[in-house]
Amino acid sequence: MNKPIDIPIKVIAADPASPAAAAGTCGAPTEMASAARQAGKSETLDRYAADYPKGPHDQPQSMCPAFGSLRVGLRMRRTATILSGSACCVYGLTFTSHFYGARRSVGYVPFNSETLVTGKLFEDIRDAVHAQADPQRLDAIVVINLCVPTASGVPLQLLPKEINGVRVIGIDVPGFGVPTHAEAKDVLSGAMLRYAREEIMAGPVPAPKNRVADRPTITLLGEMFPADPVGIGMMLAPMGLAVGPVVPVREWRELYTALDCAAVSAIHPFYTASIREFEAAGRPIVGSAPVGFEGTESWLQSIGRTAGIAQSSIDAAKNVILPAIRAAISKTPIKGRITLSGYEGSELLVARLLVESGADLRYVGTACPRTSWSDTDRQWLESNGVRVQYRASLEQDLDALHEFAPDLAIGTTPVVQAAKQASIPALYFTNLISARPLMGPAGAGSLAQVINAAIVNKSRFDQMHTFFESVGDGDNAGVWEETPKAHPEFREHTRRQLAKLQKARKSEEMG
Ligand code: SF4
Repeated sequence: MNKPIDIPIKVIAADPASPAAAAGTCGAPTEMASAARQAGKSETLDRYAADYPKGPHDQPQSMCPAFGSLRVGLRMRRTATILSGSACCVYGLTFTSHFYGARRSVGYVPFNSETLVTGKLFEDIRDAVHAQADPQRLDAIVVINLCVPTASGVPLQLLPKEINGVRVIGIDVPGFGVPTHAEAKDVLSGAMLRYAREEIMAGPVPAPKNRVADRPTITLLGEMFPADPVGIGMMLAPMGLAVGPVVPVREWRELYTALDCAAVSAIHPFYTASIREFEAAGRPIVGSAPVGFEGTESWLQSIGRTAGIAQSSIDAAKNVILPAIRAAISKTPIKGRITLSGYEGSELLVARLLVESGADLRYVGTACPRTSWSDTDRQWLESNGVRVQYRASLEQDLDALHEFAPDLAIGTTPVVQAAKQASIPALYFTNLISARPLMGPAGAGSLAQVINAAIVNKSRFDQMHTFFESVGDGDNAGVWEETPKAHPEFREHTRRQLAKLQKARKSEEMG
């Protein structure tokens, strides 16, 4: 067993002028949200409304948000994750997590109307947690309330904080309170950081296995390609700094190292709850990331200054890495007009790299909200003529596609589908762009390769379009012996029938 360590954390009161506090709260308009409020979840929903402000749409337009928390829990060693929610939601979440390579089982506490309304569901969850809490196997158990148990007020906060030394973390992640799965990763990470910070303040904690003790470290906030932290570590070395853990972490003790840092680099700028915990621990936050030449230059300067490094060492770090980035960018320039949209949270960083690589980028839409930690990237992009849309809706992404008629559309599944139908080459952001290195010289070279290969494919899309043109589209698509005849009268008949039924149902309700 490693020697316990004492991490110096000074408590700082929450800043009333912080973005989280300033965002205020907005009432959740759905029935589920008002049911949840009546059932005692107002505090949670108010906090989510401040941390993850909504708009222009109130509901997620991507996958179930709880997937983000589930994925973070399933990736952690010695951690069990239990869902409490409707069977259909749990089925979808389990399916998706295994599709994305989860190597662990998803726990589930089923319910019915009776166990839900009588409070028996909470007792079932408590029993399940007690049955799982084996300190030989686990450091932590995560319980996630989905929409229905949150709306019914199932009080996970009443679960024991720990059982036999196994920590218990209960969180509500309803679709009517957390807008994207990216922000749901922050909900769980923030809850875990809070727990770990309280443990540290109560006394020495077990030392993490791979702790760097001889140099100050920089914690990286937000998921990234596994090679990126290694590259960032090499950029930091000339300043006498080392790279710390990436949050969301892979095991409990990494939370202690994450909190024991010189500064936090908010690579994903929307981790509001996690940032609150780091700030409460007295750790400074730096926005943006080392992407492209200018991005890396200003990031190294901010990190160095924040960590109290001498300007000569900051310059030494720049002199090592910046020429290599410039060379990578000029070796593989990107030529073409591009629109970009996604829901992972790294959209603005990818956008910067595209512009620095020479792309004519017109639009970047992200499903994530605006925070002060992405201001540098937003201002840089806007000054380079790029329209930046936070909390972008699908409709806004599609409008941008039609307005700019790009040579390449990078986007979510429906955007990619619309682009391909219009003979525009398209790449899916989540699988093909955000899952590759972005930082330093490796990022510049790797991104250009995939983008340029896609842009030159335009002629194949035109060929496919011409080839399939004769088979029609919509409900006329297909190969027919006779051209299908439209029968608008059938549709009109069905419409009238439905209107009649609706009228009858209404008068039954009133009668
Ligand atoms: S109802 Fe709620 S928990 Fe279920 S899939 Fe939809 S957003 Fe997720």
